[in-house]
Amino acid sequence: MSGKGELLRLVALGQAESRAELARLSGLAPSSVSLRVEELIDAGLLQEEGSGLSTGGRRPRRLRLAPEAGLLLVADLGSHHARLGLVDLSGTPLAVVEHACDIGAGAEQTLDWLAGRLEELLAASGGGLPVRGVGVGIPGPVDPAGGTVISPSRMPGWNEYPVRDHLAARFGVPILVENDANLMAAGEYLAWPGCENLMVLKAGTGIGCGIIAGGRLHRGRGAAGDISHVRVRSDQSVICSCGHSDCLEAYASGAAMMAALAEQGIEVEHPASIAALAADGVPQATNLVRGAGRLIGEVLTALVNFFNPDAVLIGGSLSAAEQLIAAVRGAVYERCLPLATRDLKIEVTRAGPNAAILGAGSLLLDVVLAGGWVEEAVGRA
Ligand SMILES: [Zn+2]
Repeated sequence: MSGKGELLRLVALGQAESRAELARLSGLAPSSVSLRVEELIDAGLLQEEGSGLSTGGRRPRRLRLAPEAGLLLVADLGSHHARLGLVDLSGTPLAVVEHACDIGAGAEQTLDWLAGRLEELLAASGGGLPVRGVGVGIPGPVDPAGGTVISPSRMPGWNEYPVRDHLAARFGVPILVENDANLMAAGEYLAWPGCENLMVLKAGTGIGCGIIAGGRLHRGRGAAGDISHVRVRSDQSVICSCGHSDCLEAYASGAAMMAALAEQGIEVEHPASIAALAADGVPQATNLVRGAGRLIGEVLTALVNFFNPDAVLIGGSLSAAEQLIAAVRGAVYERCLPLATRDLKIEVTRAGPNAAILGAGSLLLDVVLAGGWVEEAVGRA
């Protein structure tokens, strides 16, 4: 990233609010920082106003993003609903809406529908400000190099679909396409200061896991954190959506539990209803979530020993089931190395329903800055 993009990033993320802080964090000479800050102000990307904390000498003026610097459009696609956000370049949500949606309708139809809803959200904000980037979370494996979906479960018509290219053609700005659990992890990371190594589990219709290693999202080549098709011990033999038998997902996902409840004559339409039934003490639901938590915990045992994170954070609609969290804790604390669990937190996520929106905003800013937009804006000014 160029000097100017990096300076804008430091201000956008709240890490610097004066020229002196920018010089310290960027390692650039104060005179170089001042020159670049002037260019960013002239280009309408930064504002400088008021006075920051006095450091004894001159009062530093406070830098912040100019509202005209622009906006980001982000969306978190789920199996049955989509959460859409309009966020500023610092990742702060300005408006968030939720719509029912059916990703089973296929890639092109779903993405065109989604683009239309994002344009509505932008128009409802009054419009006028430029959109700098669009970010979308997908509930399936995403190849980060090509922005394509690779062999997803329960997403007919999406395999190898060029999501990034499709959205780029529609919006004409840099596009981020990311696995939904990765977005949740990136957003959740912001809510756990001091924790640089996290496993963030998304337990909903499917099971996903995002990994933060050394303060950064670890994607591997796209599949990192995908624990849903790890084989688990079982008395039965259940065929998974991937075609193999006895995957974690075939027992512990919301989809699997909804099917198991239906076999017992209990119809639910959403995984959140399973958590609600368990909270009400409905024994079939309680058994299922406890069993799911135990299986998830057994899979996590190996991963916690191997990765030794600061925290395992569980989100998604099933995280409301206390029995599931308790069973995960029980399995992990029982079987992991004492050194791995001594300071380990196993908690419900903190960032709330906007976690993926926040994560998309923070990841998308880097994509946008890497696209060279700041240099173009400064060049035009
Ligand atoms: Zn499977």
